[in-house]
Amino acid sequence: MSKTDKSYEAKNAWLEMEDVEKEEVFKFNKEYGTFLEENKTEREFTSGSVEMLEQEGFKRIDEVDSLQAGDKVFAVNRDRQLIAAVIGEKDLKEGLRIVAAHMDSPRIDLKPNPLYEDGGLAYFGTHYYGGIKKFQWVTIPLALRGLVIKEDGTKIEISIGEKEDDPVFYISDILPHLGKKQREKKMSEAINAQHLNLIVGSIPLDDEDEENGNDKIKSAVIKHLENEYDINGEDLVSADLQIVPAAGVRDVGFDRALLGGYGHDDRVCSYTGLKALLDTNQPEYTAVTVLVDKEEIGSMGTTGMQSRFFENVVAKITSKYYKDYSELDLREILEKSSSLSGDVNAAYDSNFSEVFDKRNAAFINKGVVLTKYTGARGKAGSSEATAEFMAQVRSLLNKAGVIWQVAELGKVDEGGGGTIAQFLANYNMDVVDAGPAVLAMHSPYEVVGKIDVYNTYLAYLTFLEN
Ligand code: MN
Ligand code: MN
Repeated sequence: MSKTDKSYEAKNAWLEMEDVEKEEVFKFNKEYGTFLEENKTEREFTSGSVEMLEQEGFKRIDEVDSLQAGDKVFAVNRDRQLIAAVIGEKDLKEGLRIVAAHMDSPRIDLKPNPLYEDGGLAYFGTHYYGGIKKFQWVTIPLALRGLVIKEDGTKIEISIGEKEDDPVFYISDILPHLGKKQREKKMSEAINAQHLNLIVGSIPLDDEDEENGNDKIKSAVIKHLENEYDINGEDLVSADLQIVPAAGVRDVGFDRALLGGYGHDDRVCSYTGLKALLDTNQPEYTAVTVLVDKEEIGSMGTTGMQSRFFENVVAKITSKYYKDYSELDLREILEKSSSLSGDVNAAYDSNFSEVFDKRNAAFINKGVVLTKYTGARGKAGSSEATAEFMAQVRSLLNKAGVIWQVAELGKVDEGGGGTIAQFLANYNMDVVDAGPAVLAMHSPYEVVGKIDVYNTYLAYLTFLEN
């Protein structure tokens, strides 16, 4: 077919890429897989990212007095939000090129007063975080990760369930023999949130001390926490502990083209966004990667995309670049900026073909997905990319040979969703969602296509460099 009468058709990237590039695909995903497996919370992902930035010579923004082309800086907010930048050749007022993604993933958190004992077992009561299908989180090995802050400020890091000889934690389900009533329930009600209780112990404390009352198993868990981690029962009040699948990252399929793991949404965009910035050679425009928390619950709070942190860091960059600061400069820089909102889209799944429009669905192995708009019920709640910006991005990706596809999330009126794109758009900057397709999004074990991960990285790199 001649190039002049081309119509849009998403192509299988494995048939489009050169063999040398395919080798890169596997190499890149090997490193991504390792990073994903090691960093299952926002805090871990942030500190892992900071390590990579420092290795490449990025400096904390508060440690530099002035900024000029080629300088590399970063800023961290509460150990769970990260902004890194490479100052561009052009004047800062020409705007920034931003890739933004979220590091939080759906999971199960602990209740503020989690520990109790019932029926001969000790449990942590939980409160799930983000949109999960609760029945997917029972009867699988779970890990506990995060930290506890003691009253004097001492930080105690906890990661249990990942090493081979670590214990794991467990949420039970009813056996099929007694599941008659459960089977008749709606799926959303079969496991309710109050049933998501984590088994944490079962040997009672062997002492005569009346002080410990009747809850000897609970007391034994507290004793264990004291001995092993130097934390007491009340210390759990000031903790950010998350329950995540205790599963590693594995290749999926005979050909190893897919990658299974927990938290692809949206650490796959966070990782590729970070790597793209690290690999950006002196960019024309100032290149920025923004990694945020709390997207899964609406981007709220101090570390979400709606926080002032992003704006504050751009203000800092502005003042160090011009050696003087004006609010107008900051507003102008933000308005002139453009961004890729890095987030995943739902991969077409032939087992559930009824929820997809095949001509407008994202497919595994067909490259990075451009999602012009998200939202639900007639595009409500969506930030829609303009035709002008779509043309710019398409042209950029075509020139660089990046393999891309366009999609929306499922059939019209089938459901919907949102991303952080809308919050970037609030600065009056152009933005479009771009990221790989993922199978079984928000499940404990999601699957992406390695070639899509790589093309997402290439898309971000091209965007940041131009
Ligand atoms: Mn997401
Ligand atoms: Mn999500």
